[in-house]
Amino acid sequence: MNIEPYRQILTRYWGFTSFKPLQEEIIRSVAEGKDTLGLMPTGGGKSITFQVPALAHDGICLVITPLIALMKDQVSRLNSLEIKSIAIHSGMSGEEIDIALENAIYGDYKFLYVSPERISTRIFQAKVSKLDLSLVAIDEAHCISQWGYDFRPSYLKIATLRDHISDKVPFLALTASATPQVIDDIMSKLAFRGKNVLRTSFDRKNISYLVRKVEDKGTYLVKTLQKAKGSGIVYVRSRKRCKEVAELLVANGISADFYHAGLPDELRDKKQASWAEGETRVIVATNAFGMGIDKAEVRFVVHWDIPDSIENYFQESGRAGRDNKPAFAVLLYSQADKNRLFESMRKKFPPVDKIKDIYEALCNFLQVPLGSGKDNVFDFNMSDFVSRYRLPVIETYNSLQFLQREGYLEFTEEINNPSRIHFTVGRDDLYKFQVANEAFDGFIKLLLRSYTGMFSGFVPVNEDALSRKSAATHDTVYQYLVKLSTLNIIRYIPGKKTALVIFTEERLDRRALLISPDNYLHVKEKYEIRLNRMIEFAESDNRCRSMILLDYFGEESDRCGICDVCRKRNELDLSKYEFDLILEEIKTVLGEKSPDAEELVKLIDFPEDKVIKVIRWLLDHKKILSDNEHKLSWCQKTE
Ligand code: ADP
Ligand code: MG
Repeated sequence: MNIEPYRQILTRYWGFTSFKPLQEEIIRSVAEGKDTLGLMPTGGGKSITFQVPALAHDGICLVITPLIALMKDQVSRLNSLEIKSIAIHSGMSGEEIDIALENAIYGDYKFLYVSPERISTRIFQAKVSKLDLSLVAIDEAHCISQWGYDFRPSYLKIATLRDHISDKVPFLALTASATPQVIDDIMSKLAFRGKNVLRTSFDRKNISYLVRKVEDKGTYLVKTLQKAKGSGIVYVRSRKRCKEVAELLVANGISADFYHAGLPDELRDKKQASWAEGETRVIVATNAFGMGIDKAEVRFVVHWDIPDSIENYFQESGRAGRDNKPAFAVLLYSQADKNRLFESMRKKFPPVDKIKDIYEALCNFLQVPLGSGKDNVFDFNMSDFVSRYRLPVIETYNSLQFLQREGYLEFTEEINNPSRIHFTVGRDDLYKFQVANEAFDGFIKLLLRSYTGMFSGFVPVNEDALSRKSAATHDTVYQYLVKLSTLNIIRYIPGKKTALVIFTEERLDRRALLISPDNYLHVKEKYEIRLNRMIEFAESDNRCRSMILLDYFGEESDRCGICDVCRKRNELDLSKYEFDLILEEIKTVLGEKSPDAEELVKLIDFPEDKVIKVIRWLLDHKKILSDNEHKLSWCQKTE
């Protein structure tokens, strides 16, 4: 296969002259028609691996991706490159979805983005077979694994697509975080025709991972950031803390701002842009910050709170040093954090009865009668819901997560849907209407001047922009649109911002609602394992941090030499090689007897000063213990 045409597409549309590591291999594999699983860390350039082949081949590429905001972002980016793309998600009306699918079938589109919960719907299944598909790309493919950290049951339905499409169409699954177990799960749940995994190393050689055990995090952070250079991110757990920490930094002369999902969109965009352009040096944020961030020169990522999985930690800290220059990932950790983590775990797993209570409250809130509701989409305001039924927020949120896990419903992040219009009459009839209704003529001309594509489908419009252009008030513009809509000239869907709940099953009676205890316990157990691996990372003081992370993702590696653990060893002025040899010998000796330090030194066949350094290091790091009589023994616990 000749890669050159693919490379030309990369250059023509994106302006890049060469592929990043693995992009070419994935593209080759897909071009050969093979089902492929591509593993690359965040920022590795996964999107290109389905976008370029889709442009090189005839037909349309179906892209499945869970985050609607991200989906819209990609679609508008592609469209701005003049690549015809379209999205289908639950925030759209049935009519819009219908039109979008028709367009995808007949309108020579290159990309159809769809959110996973749409795949099993009747309308989608009916129409997907009519698409001239070139490729099915599954982004965030780890969502298919029940044992992963972000399971979405609707992903399990993806394989059913194979019943409706040609078996020549390859599946390309992509993810940034896959443990060996999840990797296998992805291929089997997507019914891969053969195992085929391509991966880049997850080794981020330019990142120094540091764990700081500090009680007074504020003082430590201020001191560190006063010394550090360049721009960075501080992740914190709560919105409240976000603001507090930013204020603390500002009070100490550090340029900083805060960011979380509770802020209005425009303000968030402004804060993000100001940080991206370097006007704000430090952004203090919750994990809502990160989507679509493309800043290469991030010198540090600090975690004020410990995340609940290595996947999350790796993804967030990985935003540092995309420019491949030295960068720091610092985790602030105190003993209290550990307790807090386990406490929050209890909230993550509400008792089954509680989950059922919340299910019933939700059905009542949304007025879903028993036995109905399947495939219905509801606007959902969480804060109205919890205040109406006096529910605790976190438990409610986690109960909904559980109901989602069990496949009863899906719920989306808040989606910001702009207003949309669609001309339901053709150009000729519109013209006749304008002639007959002079009062609307000016406004219709304004619409036609401002937007294109309104005859073939729904197009986002902005009432404010229209009002500025026409010097009419916002309300007048709105009235015009409503009137044109009642006259059946346009279809008008006013914009709104909301989260959605989608019932994937009809409402069940409380007794029939099954929260399988096995499933529940198993999920809890897996969660706890992930939590413990994260704590291990934070508490370990004798294993290279980078090795711990890579080991988690099933990758073998050498010590990085730049994390805090490696740095301490470097101070010993021993080569890694010498250190390891001496350590091995000590371990062997202590496996057989319990000498004191002086005896031990004599038993090891290395220069005395070096052996003493290693023994001291091992004692400092509690890898060996000294009893009352100064006899040494290997500490099993820290192994
Ligand atoms: P991922 O999905 O793996 O997190 P993205 O697809 O969002 O990564 O790409 C990350 C960044 O890398 C984007 O800014 C993208 O434009 C850039 N990128 C992708 N491919 C290349 C390439 N071949 N050369 C240079 N930059 C690239
Ligand atoms: Mg991506």
